[in-house]
Amino acid sequence: MLKKIFYALITAMVIWLVYTCLIPINKEENKPVETSNKLSEKKISTTSPSSTKISKKPKPKIDKAYAYIPDFKYRQGDVVPIKLKNFIEEDFDKYEIKSNLASQVAPLKVYKINKHPFALLALNSDTMPDIYKVEVYKDDKLLNTTIFEVYKRDFEIQHLAINKSFEAKKTPENLKSDKDILDNAKVKTSPTPYFSKRFIYPVKDYFVTTSFQAIRFVNNTNIVYRHSGIDMAVPMGTKIEVSNTGIVTFAGETISGGNTIIVDHGIGIFTQYMHLNKIYVKKGQEVKQGEIIGEVGTTGFSTGAHLHFDACIENTYIDPEQLIKYNILDKLKE
Ligand SMILES: [Zn+2]
Repeated sequence: MLKKIFYALITAMVIWLVYTCLIPINKEENKPVETSNKLSEKKISTTSPSSTKISKKPKPKIDKAYAYIPDFKYRQGDVVPIKLKNFIEEDFDKYEIKSNLASQVAPLKVYKINKHPFALLALNSDTMPDIYKVEVYKDDKLLNTTIFEVYKRDFEIQHLAINKSFEAKKTPENLKSDKDILDNAKVKTSPTPYFSKRFIYPVKDYFVTTSFQAIRFVNNTNIVYRHSGIDMAVPMGTKIEVSNTGIVTFAGETISGGNTIIVDHGIGIFTQYMHLNKIYVKKGQEVKQGEIIGEVGTTGFSTGAHLHFDACIENTYIDPEQLIKYNILDKLKE
């Protein structure tokens, strides 16, 4: 009888022990939120190399780098800010950003601010209204495509009577000589911006006599010129303030622009100042935003005192307002 009671007690203890050991496991597994986490952790641990003898090759990383463009619609003469996103840091040098714009055959230059890579795509005034692509390549392999739209801008039309002596000087050789000077001054740019603020108009109390990319018909002929920047009429001798901080890359004479100054602001952005009466700066000189760099005049192909002011991304002319109304850096920083 005692034996039976003893065995009954032992059996009861064993049942109790098993029951109390199992309960906590069941309780944990029943918690809905924790369960999913724990299960996934368990799944991960079972596939880790340390717990399995099956040797698997690590899967190659899928590169999801893409070009981020903040807005979809842009006008002729605008700048398209492009940010490279989701890129693999150690492969940074392998990426290329390309566009199917006719004016942009080479891959875009990629710069970095605060470790965030970006490119600036300048739309010249001849860009046909259409949908365009920006593609991210790595080792010549297309990774992703982003699209944006360019729509038409209405440019001012002017009919001008140009002094015959100016017209006579507009020989192909002279035009080429000017173009070479202007292009050469924009070959090198700082990979980081010299500026931090928005650009400013270089003169105050002006009125615009010719707007950005105005179409000019000359002397009742079909000869058409595009006016690269804006003409700001102000009295002779008005002091010119540099639009933003940068380094002077040209200070001298050109045939059509007369006394000319070109400033590199970094990341491919340049400003140009033409027809000056006096130049106060030298090539290579650092200039701070608002610093006086010269005086308004009427040198070169000019019929009255005014400042011709240009903004460019490398050699493409853009609407200066793009840089003055907003701080372009705000669109490039995170
Ligand atoms: Zn002009």
